[in-house]
Amino acid sequence: MTDPTSAFELMKSTHAAAPIADAQSRMAQLDALEAALLEYEDALVTAMSADFSHRSPHECRILDITTSLSDIRTNRKHLKRWMRVQRVKTPLQFKPAKSEIHPQPLGVVGVISPWNFPVYLALAPMAAALAAGNRVMIKPSELSPRTSDVLAEMISATFPADVATVITGGADVAAAFSALPFDHLLFTGSTAVGRKVAQAAARNLTPVTLELGGKSPVILMPSADLDRAARRIAWGKTTNAGQVCVGPDYVLVPRKKMEMTADAILGAMMRLYPKGTASDDYSAIISERHLARLHAMRDEAKDRGAQILSNEPTAPVAGSRKFAPIVVLDPPPDTAMMREEIFGPILPLIPYDTPEQALAFVAARDHPLALYVFAEDKDEQDLWLDRSISGGVTVNDTVIHVSVDTLPFGGVGASGMGAYHGQAGFETFSHMKPVLRQARWNGMFVTEPPFKGWKARALNALRKVL
Ligand code: NAD
Repeated sequence: MTDPTSAFELMKSTHAAAPIADAQSRMAQLDALEAALLEYEDALVTAMSADFSHRSPHECRILDITTSLSDIRTNRKHLKRWMRVQRVKTPLQFKPAKSEIHPQPLGVVGVISPWNFPVYLALAPMAAALAAGNRVMIKPSELSPRTSDVLAEMISATFPADVATVITGGADVAAAFSALPFDHLLFTGSTAVGRKVAQAAARNLTPVTLELGGKSPVILMPSADLDRAARRIAWGKTTNAGQVCVGPDYVLVPRKKMEMTADAILGAMMRLYPKGTASDDYSAIISERHLARLHAMRDEAKDRGAQILSNEPTAPVAGSRKFAPIVVLDPPPDTAMMREEIFGPILPLIPYDTPEQALAFVAARDHPLALYVFAEDKDEQDLWLDRSISGGVTVNDTVIHVSVDTLPFGGVGASGMGAYHGQAGFETFSHMKPVLRQARWNGMFVTEPPFKGWKARALNALRKVL
């Protein structure tokens, strides 16, 4: 295991000697990362599936490998344009000076990643940080140890240790990692650990991007196309067995439609996984502890009188970490499933009587990472766009705004701060340095004392026109 402090010091000193990587070398690094990912793809897929005890190879490839390749390629395609000095307007009183913004690498970037997309959430920030000319240290999750080991091997076989490295280890290593004086630290994980990371980074005044979680609501408005909504909610809730940061957490449903919505969603889940949890395409839960947490959530809601609905065709295989998807009708607000991020295939349906009531329900909770509104009526869509705050929104679908790399991705309030993906990632990992080039002949002498006579009059006149 690499020691985080010495790995950091090596990068820091190399960066001081050779601070700015030009476009050519950044593109070469992204080429190398792409080639490595293709070479290690099978090993990574096998490791991910083993870490989850079962995760469909298709899901591994789509959610972790294809998404990472797409990010690497997007960065490579655009980085020359993003690196360009941007000329911006200079206000009249400062003309003929010229104003520019110079994107500049920050130095050494730290990335702490979770287990749910163990490849993508390590490599997507890495690709953005390399595109911006930085050196990168990654601390992947100890809950997906096989994948973390393959990532470590892949990165050390591909990059010199002063360009990129992977530090493996548990929460103690992660805590030491977050205490390093990085030039930027991007953390993806839970809100609780995000708080600790922010505190550790604050001691070094290290800027942080916090990609956190929370309860992302779905709102089914009266004009929604129920079948279409049910299919996309079912997909969003069961992909990766619900272990998705932007997965639909619960659904607000017009009271009269609650039963028919439950039926439509369960039907859609069956069509996705005809053999239920025995389907090869259906993933398992990451650990026994996480599985026990979901069982406890379900049992508590049942004990409190909530109706639990499932379409599971067979009894779960003994010893399997698969959890059959369930829909829960109107669980009490103080149950764990309505207080905590569910992060699994449990879908509470909460009835509402008026859209105002639904807006108030969402507004009374932390700002979610994502919000999904299903409505055919544009006014019903706009009501949510105008009146709710969330990290991002997909209208009439779930999850997919995350994959659109022209959109910045990040949370707000308790669901995170800062953003990345596409150009937003490049700018997150760059210092967008403002530069003013003063002209030889300029009007700044007006600001030099003594302020008497015409100068005082000129400054007064200026106040009126600015
Ligand atoms: P987690 O917060 O438990 O762990 C994330 C990482 O933090 C791991 O690498 C872990 O080693 C490290 N860590 C643990 N203790 C630490 C400490 N004291 N200091 C620094 N680092 C520490 O999260 P998880 O269980 O791996 O992931 C699930 C959570 O992540 C969910 O809340 C989910 O919503 C969120 N998530 C968010 C996004 C996003 O993009 N916003 C994506 C995926 C997951």
